[in-house]
Amino acid sequence: MNREEVLRIVKEENVKFIRLQLTDILGVHKSVSITVDQLEKALDGELMFDGSSIEGFVRIEESDMYLKPDLNTFMVLPWTSQVSSGKIARIICDVYDSDNKPFTGSPRYVLKKVIKEAEELGYTMYVGPEPEFFLFQVDEKGAPTLITNDKAGYFDLPPVDKGEEARRDMVETLQSMGFEIEAAHHEVAPGQHEIDFKYKDALTTADNIITFRIVVRMVAQRHGLHATFMPKPIYGIAGSGMHLHCSLFKGDRNIFYDENSPDGLSDTCKYFIAGVLKHAKAITAITNPTVNSYKRLVPGYEAPVYIAWSYKNRSPLIRIPARRGIGTRIEIRNPDPTCNPYLGLAVILKAGLDGIKNKLEVPPPVEENIYEMDLAARRMRNIESLPENLYEAINELHKDEVIKEALGEHVYSRFVWAKMKEWENYNTRVYDWEINEYLEKF
Ligand code: GLN
Ligand code: MG
Ligand code: MG
Ligand code: MG
Repeated sequence: MNREEVLRIVKEENVKFIRLQLTDILGVHKSVSITVDQLEKALDGELMFDGSSIEGFVRIEESDMYLKPDLNTFMVLPWTSQVSSGKIARIICDVYDSDNKPFTGSPRYVLKKVIKEAEELGYTMYVGPEPEFFLFQVDEKGAPTLITNDKAGYFDLPPVDKGEEARRDMVETLQSMGFEIEAAHHEVAPGQHEIDFKYKDALTTADNIITFRIVVRMVAQRHGLHATFMPKPIYGIAGSGMHLHCSLFKGDRNIFYDENSPDGLSDTCKYFIAGVLKHAKAITAITNPTVNSYKRLVPGYEAPVYIAWSYKNRSPLIRIPARRGIGTRIEIRNPDPTCNPYLGLAVILKAGLDGIKNKLEVPPPVEENIYEMDLAARRMRNIESLPENLYEAINELHKDEVIKEALGEHVYSRFVWAKMKEWENYNTRVYDWEINEYLEKF
């Protein structure tokens, strides 16, 4: 899309407001609304904003920043078409500093930088996500509860699946925004759902994940429900992941596929897997960025705990779906939907490229259920575990120069600072579990 097309659509569709969107380091989406008469100035990239109020961006002294709209992301928001005062459109923006240079603290820039590194080698990464989420009832005051809106399970149908109507509305809204929905179904836990959309290049998918989260929460609200992407809202039942199906293309050729290799996977694919496994612990700090993320990464709920790969088994970090040919891909299973998608895809791609550049050797696949192996059996096979909590993950990130390079100094330092604060805040509190366990016993 170019400037003239944007201006034409805005006029034809009676758009009155434009939301300029960006994402902060923690993956929270931000937006500033402008009226149409400011649009040309915005399209010229001349619109300034105060970056100091955005988490992890800049200090007050250097707060003047520019928003540069990415015209490819222009879209009239379909749910505003009934609004009598005019429609609302959105454009996702890149951030530039006061010297008009790309701002290194912008997560979208971080991803673009790693994408460029891949492009220099002739590669494009495609990613298809499988985000899961819960639908909860809200109380009389409209505050979310922990009461799931149904008792249904995996692939169940209405009437047990009470979220079906909301989910269908989400799918239709997303479709009207150009999403190609591949599957939408009830997940294992009561009130838990999944909507999968078609793979796209990494940048488009990261943008799409942000849009997806906005749409799901908004549509749920319209149905009187609260949608949450919190990874483990309830102890003892499945948590919500966001598996990522990744493949690497050269032009229109999927280079993860090799028809002459016994398993159909190319050497490049194996190197990529080896790279992701090598950097898995540091990647986890980014793809599983909250205290709560680690309560999902426990045995027994189809979430990965161990650093291994497999053709069939769903307990390891990486599974290889059976499809070959153009659909050959790896499924990375630790990410959860609280992940900042720009940073998550940046570190995964960076790790894969490290594997390819250094021809890292992939360990043998593990086809047994690793949950059932004891520590000694895992040690014998050299199977390590993912970090057990946010603190451990941040320490792993600190040790991993390749992943740190992908993030760049600015994002790395602000991310670690924010996450250490989050950890300390969590870790110094006293919880119900401790009171129940110790108050009477000691
Ligand atoms: N909910 C599981 C997870 O946390 C995934 C379940 C599935 O999609 N098979 O990753
Ligand atoms: Mg799925
Ligand atoms: Mg699922
Ligand atoms: Mg999956």
